[in-house]
Amino acid sequence: MRSWSIPAGRLFGVDIRIHLTFVALLIFVWFTQPGDMSTSGAARGLALVAIIFASVVLHELGHTLVAQGSGVNVRSIILLPVGGVTMMEDTGQPIANLWRDIRIAMAGPLVSLVIAAVSGVCILLFYPQARLWAHPFVYAGNLPRAFFWGNVFLGAFNLLPAYPTDGGRVLRAYFVERMEYVRATRLAVTVGQGFAMLFIFLGVWNPWLMLIGFFLFVGAQLEDRSIVFQSVLESVRMEDVMLTGFSTLSPADTLEDALHKAVHTLQDDFPVVRGTDMVGVISKQRIVEALRRGGNGYVQSAMVRVFEIAQRTDSLGSAFRKLGGRGLGMIPVVDHERLVGIVTMQNLMHSMALLAETRRLRRQQERADA
Ligand SMILES: [Zn+2]
Repeated sequence: MRSWSIPAGRLFGVDIRIHLTFVALLIFVWFTQPGDMSTSGAARGLALVAIIFASVVLHELGHTLVAQGSGVNVRSIILLPVGGVTMMEDTGQPIANLWRDIRIAMAGPLVSLVIAAVSGVCILLFYPQARLWAHPFVYAGNLPRAFFWGNVFLGAFNLLPAYPTDGGRVLRAYFVERMEYVRATRLAVTVGQGFAMLFIFLGVWNPWLMLIGFFLFVGAQLEDRSIVFQSVLESVRMEDVMLTGFSTLSPADTLEDALHKAVHTLQDDFPVVRGTDMVGVISKQRIVEALRRGGNGYVQSAMVRVFEIAQRTDSLGSAFRKLGGRGLGMIPVVDHERLVGIVTMQNLMHSMALLAETRRLRRQQERADA
């Protein structure tokens, strides 16, 4: 879901990413803006995109600050020209909280409309020659006017119940109170895609509407995928995907022995076990580095002692949250303090595919039995 966006720094502890549809906007402005293609024309086109960009950032910060104020962690924001997709920290089971969701959703349009009102008043008072009510509204040749109308449209458009707009989020929150989360999102996405089609159709009349329809479509798919992905993460348990046949090392093993062992297995990360206690983890990479740096020594001196463990019934989602950004390649899985398996990033995709296959077979079996 991140592949179509590029990182653009951090604000208030939130990762900001720019979706590549902004490039589409740039090309669109280039081809549709009337006037010359000279350097100053190009600079104005760029400035127009920058204005839309800044308006979207302010809009999203509205969501982020209200979300953080209500105790919801925001992980990242993907900026699209029609608003953003705010990736909240998933709190495990998504809890329907209609009023909180409405507050967070409405903060963005409120910010946009307040900015529009303030800038509109300023333009009318100090720069009336911008002619606020003249056409075209969003136009590279008149940037103050574009700023005003850009924010008006951003605010008003996001009030439509066309998921993933903010109005669409309120609609989803309403559905979530009545049905299961993934189904509610799917339903809201369907309504949103209906709006997207409508906008694309209206594009015959105004090309900006077609562009908005296109961005809506992209945004809806972006969210749909991340929600389905999350629900899969929550439905899979560690014991479903863990490796039960794995090698361990002892803290008293020498690094050369460890390397020798590592050569004969596909594993990249090893639990270090003393008796029945797990005391650390070490990776192939770390063994090689320790050997290079200090020559032969003991696993004990090179292993990582601080690590996270998961219970066998933990969900994969919770394990991912524990790993966070620690850059660990392996999660040991325990059952009453006893090490029963490991989940490595490397084996995960592999076991997920096999798991999907076993589940499918089981369903077929059940249908045959019925
Ligand atoms: Zn918004």
